[in-house]
Amino acid sequence: MTTFVLATHNQHKVDEFRSILAQEVSGFELVTYEGPEPVEDGDTFEANALIKARAAAAHTGMPAMADDSGITVDALQGAPGILSARWAGEPKSDARNLALVLEQLEGIAEPARGASYVCVIAVVYPATEAQPATEFAVEARWSGHLLTEPRGTNGFGYDPIFVPEGLTVTSAELEPEQKNAISHRARALALVAARLNG
Ligand code: IMP
Repeated sequence: MTTFVLATHNQHKVDEFRSILAQEVSGFELVTYEGPEPVEDGDTFEANALIKARAAAAHTGMPAMADDSGITVDALQGAPGILSARWAGEPKSDARNLALVLEQLEGIAEPARGASYVCVIAVVYPATEAQPATEFAVEARWSGHLLTEPRGTNGFGYDPIFVPEGLTVTSAELEPEQKNAISHRARALALVAARLNG
C-alpha cells in the first residue's frame, strides 16, 4: 500500500485523482495535503507542479503529487499559460478571464484560433536515510479551438469556448464524466498511472 499526499484544496481534483489512480494502480491511496502552501513562482507548469509537490513531500515526509494546468492559445503566443487562473487580474474570475481571451482574439478567424489545455502532474518521493529525494513530472495536452461566443454550462474556466479536436461541442457542453475521460487531466493521470505501475 502506498499513500500519496495530494497538494490541492480542490475537492473535485482530489476525487478525480483518487478515482482514476485507485482504479489503475494497485495499493494506491490518497490523502489531502493540509500544510503550508509554497509560493508558486515557477515559469512553467512543470516548475509550479514540482514546487507544490516538493513542499508537500518535505512537510509530510510522504510521497506527494501536485498538478498545474492552464490553457495555451496559439494566437496569443501560448498565453495565458501559467497565468490562466488570473489572466484578467485579481480577484480571480473565470468569467472575466474568458471575456479577456475572447477580446484578445477579436478579428481572428477559426483556423488561427487553436488552443490546448495543458496539465502537468509532478510526483515527489521524499528523501529517506537510505536515498535522496526522487521526482518526476508528466505533461499532457488536450488540443482544440476557441469559439467566438460561449456555449454550455458544465465545466469551468475556459470550457464554454473550447471545442476539443474531433468534437463539435464545447467542453462545457460535455457531461462531466465525458470530459473527465478525455481531458488533459485524465491524460496526465493515465501517464502517472503508467509510471507508477512501471
Ligand atoms: P489550476 O490547475 O486549478 O490552477 O487551474 C488553472 C486554470 O487553468 C484554471 O483556473 C482555469 O482557468 C484553467 N483550466 C485548467 N483546466 C481547465 C479545464 O479543464 N477547463 C477550463 N479551464 C481550465
